[in-house]
Amino acid sequence: MYDDNNIFAKILRGEVPCNKIYEDNYVLSFEDVNPQKKIHALVIPKGKYIDLDDFNEKASDEEIIGLFKAFSLVAKKLKISSKNGKGYRAIANISKNGGQEVPHLHFHLIGGENVGKMLQND
Ligand code: 5GP
Repeated sequence: MYDDNNIFAKILRGEVPCNKIYEDNYVLSFEDVNPQKKIHALVIPKGKYIDLDDFNEKASDEEIIGLFKAFSLVAKKLKISSKNGKGYRAIANISKNGGQEVPHLHFHLIGGENVGKMLQND
């Protein structure tokens, strides 16, 4: 069940501040508080979805399209898009084995420099 008290729900309600990058009817994008590279943005749907599987099961086609298009809109705004920059990595951690910490669907857009190999086990 969706937890209304997760930190991203609080950000969406305006109860916790964020450095906003982009917003429309479907998504909010803001800077990650603990950036892993020079640019680290988060893109989240406005609806209450726990993870990608929950989203694909319950969201409308409009919401799904809105979220996916937002990645490129945000990337362009940050000048890391393949169209106006040097590219980036989009990652979603999903549930327990995926290492998801905040239980509201979010994609990480990471770039601004070479982000290295995809999986580096510590
Ligand atoms: P996850 O591990 O769930 O995929 O990623 C959660 C992300 O949320 C982490 O990268 C973490 O730095 C970020 N985060 C956690 N709390 C906050 C917060 O209060 N504000 C912002 N902007 N990011 C947060």
